[in-house]
Amino acid sequence: LSPLPEKSRIGRLPDGSFSRYAGVEKFSQLPLSKRTKDGLAESKYEKMTEIQRATLPHSLCGRDILGAAKTGSGKTLAFIIPVLEKLYRTRWGPEDGVGCIIMSPTRELAGQLFEVLKSVGRHHGFSAGLLIGGRKGVDTEKESVNELNILVCTPGRLLQHMDETPNFDCSQLQVLVLDEADRILDVGFKKELNAIISQLPKHRQTLLFSATQTKSVQDLARLSLKDPEYLSVHEQS
Ligand code: ADP
Ligand code: MG
Repeated sequence: LSPLPEKSRIGRLPDGSFSRYAGVEKFSQLPLSKRTKDGLAESKYEKMTEIQRATLPHSLCGRDILGAAKTGSGKTLAFIIPVLEKLYRTRWGPEDGVGCIIMSPTRELAGQLFEVLKSVGRHHGFSAGLLIGGRKGVDTEKESVNELNILVCTPGRLLQHMDETPNFDCSQLQVLVLDEADRILDVGFKKELNAIISQLPKHRQTLLFSATQTKSVQDLARLSLKDPEYLSVHEQS
C-alpha cells in the first residue's frame, strides 16, 4: 500500500487514517438516519455527486468544511444532509430552538434551497423557516421565529431578527452554513456578517460552500473555523 500524496486530504481523518466512507458512491451507503435516506430516495437522489462524495464523510463527523465546486455540482445536499443529521443525532426537539442557520446571499437562492430542505427533510420533525426580506411582514415572522429549528435566511433578514425580535436566541446553534460563501464574505455583506457572527456561539460546526475557494485567512478567522477541511472539486466537462 502506498500512502496518498500529502496534498490529498479526501477521505483522510486528522489522525491520518482513512474514512471508511471515502470511496462510497450512493447515499444509501452512508451512515445516515433512515429518515434522511428515505427523504433522499423519495426525492430521487441516489448517487452522490463528486462534491457530495468529497465532503460528506467529513461533514458528517462534525468537521468544518470549505467546499468548492462549480455551479450545478450539487453543493446544496452537501450541507443539507449534515444539517439534518446533526439535529437528528442530538435529538433536537421543538423546545430546543434554533439549531442550524443556513445563509444565502439572495432571496431566490434561499428559496430554492428551502425547497430542497423540505423535500429531503420530509420525514424529520424539525421546523424550518425561510427568512428573507420582503416576502412576508417581518412582524409575522417574529411570532414564530423562536420556535424554528432551521433558519434559511439572507444575512439582512437574519440580522433584522437579531436586532428586533424579542428573545431571539441562537445561543444553542449547532451548525452554521454559508452557501455561496464567497458572495456572503464579499465586502457588500461585511458589516452584516460581522454583526451576525459576533452574536453566534463559537462552539459550532461551520460549513462554507461556493463556486470558488475562499482562501482569505482573514475571512476564515472571522468565521472562527476550526482546522477546516479544504475540499475542491473540479469535474471534467
Ligand atoms: P450547486 O449549489 O452546486 O450549484 P445544486 O445543489 O443546486 O448545485 O444542484 C444542482 C442540480 O443537481 C439540482 O437540480 C439538483 O437537484 C441536482 N443534484 C444534486 N445532487 C444530486 C444527486 N446526488 N443526484 C442527482 N441530482 C443531483
Ligand atoms: Mg448552490
